[in-house]
Amino acid sequence: MLNSSMDATETKRRFKQRAIWFYCVNIMMALIIGLSLYFSKQAGVYQQTFIPILILFFIWIFNVDKIYRCPKCSKSPRGKEGLIYLPKTCTSCGVELR
Ligand SMILES: [Zn+2]
Repeated sequence: MLNSSMDATETKRRFKQRAIWFYCVNIMMALIIGLSLYFSKQAGVYQQTFIPILILFFIWIFNVDKIYRCPKCSKSPRGKEGLIYLPKTCTSCGVELR
């Protein structure tokens, strides 16, 4: 999986793709969970749907950072800004990501 000949531009390009995908998944999941909660409440089935929605939420939270990885070292780069702002360099291997 690791490609030593991968150049800096390629690393940045791949990271950007992952970052875009990461944000898309987050927005999608937030929408799905938000709408599920809203419609469950509207339909009065909140008690029945709350646990499945909660499970979905935890699956999302614990898996979403798998998308968000450094293309070079496959570790999840976490800056001090957390996952909100994209780090400029990988916190694990120091490769430039943007
Ligand atoms: Zn890295």
